Amino acid sequence: MSTVLSTASAQTNSALARELFDKYENFKMSPVTSRRFSQAEMIKWLDPLRDQKVFVMTPVGRSAEGRTISMLKLGTGKTTVLLWSQMHGDESTATMALLDMLKFFSQEPGHLVTRSILDKLNLLIIPMLNPDGAERFQRRTAQSIDMNRDALALRTPEARILKETRDTYRPQFGFNLHDQDPRYSVGETRNVSTIALLAPAFDETRSDNSVRLPAKKVAASLAAVLQEFIPNNVSKYDDAFEQRAFGDNIQKWGTSTVLIESGGWPGDREKMFVRKLNCVALLTTLYGIAADRCEHADVKVYEQLPFNTKYLYDIILRNAQLKANDTVPSTTVDIGINIDEEFNPKTRQAKQVAKVVDIGDLRTFGAFQDVDVRGAVVVGAEVKLDQQIPMERVNSLLRKK
Ligand SMILES: [Zn+2]
Repeated sequence: MSTVLSTASAQTNSALARELFDKYENFKMSPVTSRRFSQAEMIKWLDPLRDQKVFVMTPVGRSAEGRTISMLKLGTGKTTVLLWSQMHGDESTATMALLDMLKFFSQEPGHLVTRSILDKLNLLIIPMLNPDGAERFQRRTAQSIDMNRDALALRTPEARILKETRDTYRPQFGFNLHDQDPRYSVGETRNVSTIALLAPAFDETRSDNSVRLPAKKVAASLAAVLQEFIPNNVSKYDDAFEQRAFGDNIQKWGTSTVLIESGGWPGDREKMFVRKLNCVALLTTLYGIAADRCEHADVKVYEQLPFNTKYLYDIILRNAQLKANDTVPSTTVDIGINIDEEFNPKTRQAKQVAKVVDIGDLRTFGAFQDVDVRGAVVVGAEVKLDQQIPMERVNSLLRKK
């Protein structure tokens, strides 16, 4: 009987996820078109939904620079679920997905997903826990602290807000929402990890208990949804216990917590596809919790996920002729290049900066742009390890393929 039930619910969940995926463009928070936005912009997007009473917005404290951090509360159910995003200021993918989710609730009030979630759950959402960092699009807080290493010392006001919220409401479930390096790969493959999941450990031996096990089931439910769309791009995040991190501690304090790390996708530097996947996975899984389906999830779906690995560069130029300097002969090399972005808070524009990160036989690595440039000649002055290389030069080499 139970197998029949779980198969039936798995099918229903997958159909539901497909439906949300297909109608996403109709309900998403469409003014959000860049992953770099300030708290003021976010509030401007949330205001109409607040006016419609989709949620109640309550201040829960102030950032180091005095920005008011608010919690959104919605739903009348008994199961409290706390979701927080962007404790790292430059990790905004899930914030966008949360806005999409709220927009879905406002646009589809009669939908089964909306009704179940709002009837059964008490949702507490803190989007953008680090607004000072978001202002600069930087990881750390304005006090230069990584707040995900501040769960014990609580030296930042932002960390104290999260701890106090957890202690006040004692949520049954927690969603700790981040972005990871978009160049993580999945296990021994060269596939990008588009989303990595983790039910964080609460002790050194990574044991299970009645708090972590339900978290693993939530992670399994998320994984099953994501694998519908990106079967080869879901991984497990490093599960070592970090005694100062929030996920690990919130698990220890009694809230079944899952970490979602949004990674990369080919051709999606703005992470709009990853945002969509986040939104669909969150909605479907929250529905699963509301409909008491999540507890039947197969933990193995989570446990069998391959771990994150680092086998990807942004660009590999293969078989270039490198003349490193005047005293050595030229030789054939592959050149690994990563592209990062330098954000200017004044203009709120980001500039792409390319850096040479590896030179030699790179057959063990993959890349988003993996190009054979056989015959292209480069010299040591322009291709130097750990040095920048002008984007124009990278583009001209890419054209040589
Ligand atoms: Zn993070």
